Amino acid sequence: MADLSESVCLNHPDTPAAARCATCGKPVCARCIVTRNGSNYCSETCADNAAKTVGRVNDVLENKKKVDAQGKRRTLIILVILLAAAAAGYYYYSQNKDDVKRFVKKTERKVKRNVKETKKSIEKSLPSSSTYKRDRENMIK
Ligand SMILES: [Zn+2]
Ligand SMILES: [Zn+2]
Repeated sequence: MADLSESVCLNHPDTPAAARCATCGKPVCARCIVTRNGSNYCSETCADNAAKTVGRVNDVLENKKKVDAQGKRRTLIILVILLAAAAAGYYYYSQNKDDVKRFVKKTERKVKRNVKETKKSIEKSLPSSSTYKRDRENMIK
């Protein structure tokens, strides 16, 4: 683009340009300049377009804020649900502790030769806190 001092007004070819339109970049003389919100434009149309663009940018920023807030709310809801599930799982475990103990003893009696491995497999089948942590992490991902 040519230097502004070498340009002439878009509407007045013998008048040197005083400013460039902030929207379309066309040079205009002091008489033709349309000033809006501290910016220079070649015409009302360009000034209006600039105002619309600013409005659109603000709309986009507003929508982004809303989406961010929604995402945070969703994460919170998921965490609450997971905590409730973990609590329910723990409650179930504590209510059935005696059954679980009986089951372990019975199993130990049955498999005396390999008590350690049996215990391990029972622990795996129970809802341990580490399982809940892993499930929670997987769900968030
Ligand atoms: Zn313009
Ligand atoms: Zn002019």
